[in-house]
Amino acid sequence: MEQKKTVLIVEDEKSIVDILRFNLEKEGYETLTAYDGEAGLKAALEQHPDVILLDVMLPKMLGFDVCKALRDKGDHVPVIILTAREEEDDKVKGLEIGADDYITKPFSMRELMARVKANIRRTAMQVMETEVSAGETMSAGGGLVFNLDNYQVLKHEKPIDLTQREYELLTFLASHPGKVYSRIDLMEQVWNYGYVGSDVRTVDVTVRRLREKIEDDPANPSLILTRRGVGYYFAGE
Ligand code: CA
Repeated sequence: MEQKKTVLIVEDEKSIVDILRFNLEKEGYETLTAYDGEAGLKAALEQHPDVILLDVMLPKMLGFDVCKALRDKGDHVPVIILTAREEEDDKVKGLEIGADDYITKPFSMRELMARVKANIRRTAMQVMETEVSAGETMSAGGGLVFNLDNYQVLKHEKPIDLTQREYELLTFLASHPGKVYSRIDLMEQVWNYGYVGSDVRTVDVTVRRLREKIEDDPANPSLILTRRGVGYYFAGE
C-alpha cells in the first residue's frame, strides 16, 4: 500500500485547523498542526511533511518568514500560502519568496483538496522519468544538465537551488524544446490543475524566479523564452 502523505497545517485559527484536519484525514492524509510560525517552522524541519498549508498572519513568525527560512535552509517542500481576500499582494509576494501556490480565504474544501493533491510531488518528474531512463543525465543547452536520479539541475556544473515547482516547470519546458505553451497550458500541465481561473500570474512569477536562477542575463533570457501574446517555451537546438 502506498504510504500516507503528510500535510502540515500552520494556522492560528483553531476552527480552520479543525476543519482542514477533518477533511484531510477523511481524504486519507496524515496531518500535523502548528498554531504559530515558529512551531510551524520547527515541525516542517523535523517532520518532513509532503506539503505545507501556511497561513500568512501568524503569531511569533509570519508565514512568509517561515517559507523564506525553509528555502534558505534548502528545504523544497511544497508550500501553499493561505491568504485573506483583502491581502491581494500577498499572493505575488508569497510566490516570490519561494511558495509554490496560494489559496484565498474563504476557500472551498474541494478547491483546497485539489491544490493539496496537485502540489504533492509528481507530474513533470514522472514525465521526465518516462522519457529518459533513470540514472541518466540530460543536457538542455545553456550549460544546463538535469540529473534525473536526484532531481538536481546543474548550470555550468554547479547545482542550482530550485523549488519543486520551479524544477517541474523547467523540466517540463526543457523536455519539449521549441514548443510554446500558453500560461493556461502550463497551469494545467505543470501545476496540474483540472480547472484554471483567470489568475495565471502564478506562471509569470515562477518564470521570472526561474530565469533569475538559470539565465546568464535574466533580463535577456536565452533559455526560457517568451512568445509574445502566446506563452513560454524552452530554446530549441
Ligand atoms: Ca492567521
